[in-house]
Parts: sequence; C-alpha cells; structure tokens
Amino acid sequence: MKRLLTLSVMGFFATMLSSCGSAPEEKAWIVDRFDDIKVIRYEVPEFEKLPLEEKILVYYLAEAAKCGRDILFDQNFKYNLAIRRTLETIYTEYGGDRTSDEWLAVEKYLKKVWFANGIHHHYSNDKFRPEFSQEYFEKLIAAVPAEKLPQDFGSVEGLKAVIMPAIFDPTLYASRLDQTAGVDMIASSANNYYEGVTQQEVEDFYHKMADDHDPRPVSYGLNSKLVKENGRIVERVWKVGGMYSPAIERIVEWLEKAENVAAEPQKSIIASLIKYYRTGDLRQFDDYNIKWVRDTVSNVDFVNGFIEDYGDPLGRKASWEANVNFRDEEACRRTEIISENAQWFEDNSPVDPAFKKKEVKGVSAKVITVAMLGGDCYPATPIGINLPNADWIRKEYGSKSVTIDNITYAYNKAAQGNGFQEEFVLRGEDRDRIKQYGKLADDLHTDLHECLGHGSGQLAPGTKGGELKSYTSTLEETRADLFGLYYLGDPKLVELGLIPSLDVAKAQYASYIMNGMMTQLSRIELGKNVEEAHMRNRKMIAEWCYEKGKADNVIEWVKDDGKTYVVVNDFDKLRSLFGDMLREVQRIKSEGDYEAGKALVEDYGVKIDPELHAEVLARYKSLNIEPYGGFINPDYRLVEKDGKIVDVEIVYNDSYVGQMLEYSEKYSFLPSIN
Ligand code: ZN
Repeated sequence: MKRLLTLSVMGFFATMLSSCGSAPEEKAWIVDRFDDIKVIRYEVPEFEKLPLEEKILVYYLAEAAKCGRDILFDQNFKYNLAIRRTLETIYTEYGGDRTSDEWLAVEKYLKKVWFANGIHHHYSNDKFRPEFSQEYFEKLIAAVPAEKLPQDFGSVEGLKAVIMPAIFDPTLYASRLDQTAGVDMIASSANNYYEGVTQQEVEDFYHKMADDHDPRPVSYGLNSKLVKENGRIVERVWKVGGMYSPAIERIVEWLEKAENVAAEPQKSIIASLIKYYRTGDLRQFDDYNIKWVRDTVSNVDFVNGFIEDYGDPLGRKASWEANVNFRDEEACRRTEIISENAQWFEDNSPVDPAFKKKEVKGVSAKVITVAMLGGDCYPATPIGINLPNADWIRKEYGSKSVTIDNITYAYNKAAQGNGFQEEFVLRGEDRDRIKQYGKLADDLHTDLHECLGHGSGQLAPGTKGGELKSYTSTLEETRADLFGLYYLGDPKLVELGLIPSLDVAKAQYASYIMNGMMTQLSRIELGKNVEEAHMRNRKMIAEWCYEKGKADNVIEWVKDDGKTYVVVNDFDKLRSLFGDMLREVQRIKSEGDYEAGKALVEDYGVKIDPELHAEVLARYKSLNIEPYGGFINPDYRLVEKDGKIVDVEIVYNDSYVGQMLEYSEKYSFLPSIN
C-alpha cells in the first residue's frame, strides 16, 4: 500500500504560490541547484523550547535516522555504494584540474547520485546519463590512491569491471523500477530487492506463504531480499545478524539510547522496534506498529524502518526511511477538527454505502515540525505521511496521519517570485485566488488526503488487497486525492471554520487540473510516458474529469497568444465529477477489480500528447525553475557539562556537498557489496 505523499510533487504546487513582490532580505533558502534539482534548507522552529529530555530524545532518534542511509543506496541498486564511494574518492582526492567541463560534469553526476540515493533518478527511476566520457573517468580513477577506492572487488580492475558498464552502458540497468505491462518487471527493474528470480517465481513464492484466511495477514516479503541460492529461492532478511546488519546494529544502538530517555508509552514502542530489528519477525513489526499508532500523546515522534514499497514493482519490499519530528501545536487545530469529524466525512462521501466504513477508527492527525530526515525521506521528502501501511491494522487500530509544516513552509519560501503562475495560469481571477488561498488549499488538501482519504472506505468481503497489482499505488493515491478534492469544495468546511469561503476550493481545483493535464509534464522527458504513481493519479483525475465534463465544457483548453492553457469553467460540476470518480475508484479498490483499474490508469494516466509536452517543457525551461526539490538537514550538537548533557544545540547548514560528504564519512557502515 502506498500512502506517502511525495513532497517533490507538492512542492510543485508550492511553486505556484506567487511572488510577494519585494521579499525581505533573509538567508537564502535554496542552498544548491543542479540539473533538475534544487536543494533547500529547512528550519526547525520551537526546537529550542522543547524540554531537555525531548531535545535529547530528538538527538538520539536523529542519529538513528542517519545510520540507514547506505541501506537505501544498496536497496536501490546493488552497485550504488561502489559507485558513490568511487565518485567520492575522486571528488575528495583528485588533485588535477577541477575547472574543466568534464570535471564539472562528474561533480554534477555525483550530486545527482547523492540526491537520488543511487544512479537512477529518484522520481522517474531512469538511469542517469553521465555527461563525461569513460576515458576521462578512467583517468580520474587512475589518479587517486587505489587504497581509497572500494576494496570489495579484489582490485581496481575488478571494481571497474562492475561499475563502468553500470555507469556508461545505457542499455544496462536502464530503469530502477519498470512497471511496463507485459514485461517481467523483476527482470527489467534494476532495484536490489530480487536477484536471480523471475516475476512468476516471486509471485509463486509469496502466494504459497500467504494464509488467505488470516484476518491479520503478515506483510510477507517486506523486510528481505529474495534470491536464488543453489537453485532454492530464499529470503535474505534485513535484521541484526542478517543482510545490512552492520547498519542496523548502529540504528539499534541509537534506538537503545533513545529508549533510555523516552517516557512511556514511547519507551515500550522503541523497545518493540528494537526487538523487530533484532529478530526480523514481521509479526513483531505489526506489534510495534499497533503500539506506535496508539500513541497519540508523545510530543516527539519518529518513523524508522522498512516502510514504503514504492520501489518494488510488485509492491512488497520496503525501502528504509526515517524521520524525527515533534508537534506543531498551533497548526494541529486544523487537523484536529478534521479528525473529530472523520465519521461525518465517511458517512457523507459519494461512495457506495457497502464500501464505507461503518465506524471510522482512530484517525489521529497532527501537524508536525520535522527535525531530521533520513533514508528514503532524504533529501527528497514527503510532506505528509499516513502510517502504518498494513490494511488490517488500519482497520482495527486506525492510522496516524501527519503533515509536515516546516517543510512546506521552506518550499514556499524557496518558490517565491519564480514566475510560474504568470506563465501558466491564464485568468487573473485564478491567479488571485491561488495567491490568496494557495497555501491553505494545499495544506487542507494534504490533510484531507492523508487524514481521511487513505483511511476511508473498506474492502468487500473476499477482497484481500493485492488484486490491483502494479496499479495499486496509483489507484490508492487517486482515491485519497479525490477524497480531498471532493471535500475541499464542501460547505461543511466553511461551517467547521476550516476555510473562509469556497474560493479556497476554486484555487485548488484550478491548480490541480492545470497540474494534472499540463504543468506536471515539465518533470518528464520528451517522449516518455508518465510512470510515477502520484503523477499518474493526477493526470488520470484531470483527464477523466475533462472527458466526462466535455459536453458541459467543465474544463476547457484555451489558446491565447500562441500558448496553451487549461481552465476550469464550472467548479460545481467539477466537484460532482470528483465525487463520481471517487465512487468508481472506491468500487475498484473494494472489489479488487483489476481490469477496470488497469483501464482507468492506462487510458487516462499514462500517455502524453507530444506536442503539448514539448510546449510545456519549453515554457517551463524559460523560467529556469528546477522541477524537483529536496532538503539538507540541520545538525544537532550535545552540550555537556561535568559529564552531563545540559542542552542540545541546533546548527543550520548551507552546504549540500558538505553534508553529503559528512554523512558518507560518519554514517557509512556497509560494505560496497551486500
Ligand atoms: Zn497518499
């Protein structure tokens, strides 16, 4: 199940919040830019005001969050660590000309590898194409001390034999995640979740393992690599004593320190997570999740583990991620109102009554300030999280939903004055509404998506949840987005005091449709299709509503001065189309209707009109805005006196390269080949 709303996408919305004219002088929010990436710093307001015990807890959890970085690199592709380390050695050791175009191309490549946690783009999953020659790269390798290069391949020649084709042969390991219908997705995906097995073998393996009658099914496969050893298919489990043990041991060390300073119920929760890391037992992981989801009192909270399965074409293996956060009291009021009314939203949704939850349980929602990002949340991070992922836990215990306010804030700051909305939003009234309500509309849409959308609805008897296969995540995101869109335009929101008027919904509808049909294409290379789940979902919603509302001209393509625009003419009708689509998508999920789900995604979410695509790319390029964003973390330093910790200081960084090199030096615990 996919429940992570990726920030890079929302950041795209954020770029729409327009210029505020003359911005006051302040420290730059963007600390680095390269290729299609901007790196932003975020602040952690109110950290200084936390009680000392909570500051120390944040410190320990933050250390634990940094220790799994190598795991993600290795999960993404088996030679990522070898390649990153080779590049880092060159970067720190090479004494020759560091100003040539080829050198700068190597530097850019390294920055991209750091950002993507590997050699495939973090969003499109396509392998990076180096803009330097193999000859030049070989020259660089020869010019640095051999003993500082990865030693895991016997010799420098052995290392080169592995990494050179991986970097330079465009046909090899071309995509980290290939979900093309009809291909063996395991064989064609370069991720490191499987080795030597076919898609059929994987499906058979887990089919045999699953107990169809278990009302509390274990998330089989979540924390292991599936390999063939001597003709037998076995799991290499990620745990202390198993695969990735050296990194997991360090994570556990810091978690133990955190356990010692935490108060109940958090103390037991951390103990439960440690037990899971030690045993690799997925029942234990469920136990941990149940404890975690029930804890709504701890001010400091965290995610640390193998959580989201976006990186696996079969949606089974989870990438390692971490984040540490604490409550943003003021902003929490908004999500509390939504949570308190969760049952009303469920009861009044346009979904078939058979697929509604009779009783919505424990939708806890809060707005948080993030203090540390790690693993698959770093540098690109979600701005909303809804966990745990196991459907039965969500049904019995509910889920915890958070939106990350200091990250959205930083995004908006970084986007001010970039000219985006002047270029793409045709009508002044839409621009005005977006300017006035864009941030609130985005925040509320995220809240509704995360707090209510993912948690809403129920499966029909007999449906288990895996039926939609590779379309699962797209359809799940579609469902949550539609839920949010539909309710954003409900007068109930005005009544609850969440929005001043329905103009907030109009702002969101106009920008959502424009993004889904048009501007998000700026993140895709010409000639490619839409692959990523959230992007597919947005395109699908917008295109479906366009087609269904065509007779009434609900959404319209407009040509003006040679440029293409998309406008919403009828906001009320659009809202009812969102409702119709939500009803259908919920039915597809509830009944596990694979064919209908597939048709929806393939017909509306995948293919791009090449002419429009080229135009969007050209216009976007003229603005010089990087379509993707990510963040560098602050540092935390213990202040000690007479052997006792008396304070924790926060230090803000402004060097992306500096942080990456530091993390690679201090938090690198795995061999280059695992
Ligand atoms: Zn989501």
